Amino acid sequence: MIYKAWFQCALGCDERHDLNEIVYECSKCGGLLEVEHDIDALRTKSPVYWRQLFDQRYMRTGWPYGSSVWGKKEMVCPNVENENVVSMFEGGGNLFWADRLGREIGVEDLWVKQCGNSHTGSFKDLGMTVLVSMVKQMISEGKCIPAVACASTGDTSAALAAYGAAAGIRTIVFLPRDKVSAAQLVQPMANGALVVSLETDFDGCMRIVREICLRENIYLANSMNSLRVEGQKTISLELAQQFDWEMPDWIVIPGGNLGNVSALGKGLQEMEEIGLINQLPRIAVAQSANANPLYRSYLQNFDRFEPIPAQRTLASAIQIGDPVSAQKAIRVLKTFNGVVEQATEDELANASAMADRTGLFCCPHTGVAFAALFKLLDRGVIQRKDRVVVISTAHGLKFTEFKIAYHEDRLRDLGVEPRHANRPLELPPKYDLVRDRVFQALLM
Ligand SMILES: *Cc1c(COP(=O)(O)O)cnc(C)c1O
Ligand SMILES: [Zn+2]
Repeated sequence: MIYKAWFQCALGCDERHDLNEIVYECSKCGGLLEVEHDIDALRTKSPVYWRQLFDQRYMRTGWPYGSSVWGKKEMVCPNVENENVVSMFEGGGNLFWADRLGREIGVEDLWVKQCGNSHTGSFKDLGMTVLVSMVKQMISEGKCIPAVACASTGDTSAALAAYGAAAGIRTIVFLPRDKVSAAQLVQPMANGALVVSLETDFDGCMRIVREICLRENIYLANSMNSLRVEGQKTISLELAQQFDWEMPDWIVIPGGNLGNVSALGKGLQEMEEIGLINQLPRIAVAQSANANPLYRSYLQNFDRFEPIPAQRTLASAIQIGDPVSAQKAIRVLKTFNGVVEQATEDELANASAMADRTGLFCCPHTGVAFAALFKLLDRGVIQRKDRVVVISTAHGLKFTEFKIAYHEDRLRDLGVEPRHANRPLELPPKYDLVRDRVFQALLM
């Protein structure tokens, strides 16, 4: 294969590493590494060639290209041999035309990219397939990797455990106790990961996993490992593909550790460099007001970035106060004339429920993105005629506790007043009574 990629310092130091080296940070400045592609090699083929190739492979069965991540292998990770790819047909998330919700909020052209319709129920699969495939490649080359580990707010560990199990590679996941949903906890348990529940928050888990990986030769699967970013950037490639290579005006994306928005930006920029797209969208990052270090930095024009202790939020996957990819995300936002908006618990819960009423089934993080969209529309930052895509990051079925508590009005302690609550009618099985109450309810 003539296409090449390697690790390079994201802050511009002159340091390169092969993708099969176990290295996460630049030895000169301590900053994150980034996967750099030989763009000139990719440009030896025309944009038309790439578009046709990607379209031909999309969602078909030719191994491993039917996966929408590996269908773009040349732009994602050309270094892995096909026989070492660990794939579960990830990607290809439905682009949902949210016409009814759009009409309710006055946007003509609203779309939801359903990244949670995926093997483990979140977009984390997109990055994990690349990372675990590279681990399998390294093991096949004789490297000693006893296990792969991550700290997680729930979805990363589910993805790591599933891909590790599929490949027969040991996995260790560090979770903050009582801060992940039941579905998120049971996923790595079911897939046979070593599950370590720590009496701390995500940031505390992150400190432990970094140390154990640095000292014990265990491979780190958090997004400071930039291989995951390569898989996640296919969200932007798919969006281009699904819109026939035209970009929307805005992409709204929830952000916690800020790896996903970094990936989105990287994918868009590389597509532009290769000529696959000709215009760039603007990007809005949505944060929970209880875990909003990027929002605070945005208010100060990104002059400074200060980690904060994250407070409890229903959007538990983005309850992160010290995001690993903050600097990458800020660079993306500057490039894409981006904005950051925040959502309170009341706003995110009601936005999520309102979207559900139009046929979606949102996770709370997607609720944060919707709430941010509503506010940006009100302020006229996003215009009513704009084409807007909301990135839905996980499947709502992973967060049923959140939804039940909302509909049962049990979130008052977080300030949530459920304006779209819908409780079951509980009745004895008596026809006349049932009929009366049903019609009474229909007329309300
Ligand atoms: C991981 C995750 C996010 C946040 O992505 P980052 O890359 O950490 O910013 C948002 N929503 C869900 C459901 C997630 O699992
Ligand atoms: Zn550096």
